[in-house]
Amino acid sequence: MDLGLSSEQIALQARARDFAQSVARPRAAEIDATEQYPWDIVKALTEAHFVGMTIPTAYGGEGRSFLDAVLVIEEMAKCCTVTARIVVETNMGAISTVMAYGSEEQKKLAASLVLAGDKPAICITEPDAGSDALAMTTRAEKRGDRYIINGRKHWITGGGVSRLHLIFARVFDEKGQDVGIGGFLAVRDQGQGLRVVRREQTMGLRGMPEGELAFEDLEVPAEMAVLPPSGFRRGFADLMNAYNSQRVGAGTVAMGIAAGALELAAEWVKEREQFGRPIGEFQGLQWMLADMQTQLTASRLMLYQAARSRGEGSIFPDPMLAAQAKIFASEAAIRIVNDALQMFGARGYSRELPLERMARDVRMFTIGGGTAQVLRTLVASRMLGWKLPQTRDGYIEASARPLAAE
Ligand SMILES: Cc1cc2nc3c(=O)[nH]c(=O)nc-3n(C[C@H](O)[C@H](O)[C@H](O)COP(=O)(O)OP(=O)(O)OC[C@H]3O[C@@H](n4cnc5c(N)ncnc54)[C@H](O)[C@@H]3O)c2cc1C
Repeated sequence: MDLGLSSEQIALQARARDFAQSVARPRAAEIDATEQYPWDIVKALTEAHFVGMTIPTAYGGEGRSFLDAVLVIEEMAKCCTVTARIVVETNMGAISTVMAYGSEEQKKLAASLVLAGDKPAICITEPDAGSDALAMTTRAEKRGDRYIINGRKHWITGGGVSRLHLIFARVFDEKGQDVGIGGFLAVRDQGQGLRVVRREQTMGLRGMPEGELAFEDLEVPAEMAVLPPSGFRRGFADLMNAYNSQRVGAGTVAMGIAAGALELAAEWVKEREQFGRPIGEFQGLQWMLADMQTQLTASRLMLYQAARSRGEGSIFPDPMLAAQAKIFASEAAIRIVNDALQMFGARGYSRELPLERMARDVRMFTIGGGTAQVLRTLVASRMLGWKLPQTRDGYIEASARPLAAE
């Protein structure tokens, strides 16, 4: 199928496939079993220039497009989800936010860390502020030339392994006035005040730590506040818009897992015989396969389109396209992996095959990075041109603040 890829992109895809099959796949089961962050894979990805590909050349990256990153992520996810997530988070998410809104100093800092293999952490979610991210209580108080940050975040990807942290906090000026929500850059091992207090016990994606973080009088120099042109008051919406690239990346990981599962299933139904013939000769399974392929193709097209939408008058993927692609791809991927596992019968349920791991891994993608429900709210609100308030006190509060988790 012609997906409108350039010969250079096809070559990049082939290089990523080769890496995924020869370096990532042999390590995938072990990473899952040991729950250890794969520093060896990080090193290999760094040497192969798959981390920081999207960082502009002026900051040492390759200035690649989000579609280039998507092509690489898909190949990695077919073989090893943790490897794919490292590629997402070193090319999209926090790094693209800094590259869009950061000062020169911030861009140089972020680029140098990421290009050396650091996976930046983005710290938004709190125990009492999940989908309703604006309810966050982590405080950043201005004191002279710095901000003092106090609060807790949980489910922070990379907690304990990431150095660079983009921390979202409610900002208070010198007079104690609440001036909105801002993002602040902190490097974990430079100074005190940023502690990983707990590792979440995850169902899947086990080699990628999810941490609970405590900020205790964490001092951040004022020049490390990431400030969009709209300032703190509207800044959160802008900063979250930058997160659309991460949504495209996460949707692509889900799609890649599904593609990997479908490849396994398509081979298996030709090989496995029951009732004296390959099970792929049964129409019941053929129609399942056709539905799986159809959903996979639709997911891929939506994700490629969302990735391509960056550059069409925007530095980020279009929010509507990114949200729709993530909703569709993450939900389709769960169904595809589940059906692939079904086709293997008892073997599908065995830990000796990768399908049970894929089923655990893929389950996450309707949750992290904005749940499928909250993203539907985003899509509907843009369709209708309304802010759809989720709070009981409704429209008054909604008009004074951007939409939850948008
Ligand atoms: C593996 C993993 C990695 C993550 N990584 C990060 C990270 O790096 N940084 C970070 O900041 N966060 C991260 N998160 C947190 C993630 O963004 C939140 O889990 C997510 O936003 C949902 O918040 P919650 O878990 O508190 O669920 P809740 O907000 O409590 O939602 C519970 C349920 O209610 C539904 N719901 C809530 N509000 C509405 C509504 N208005 N309308 C309809 N349904 C609604 C939700 O869809 C969900 O089904 C991660 C989560 C996971 C699982």
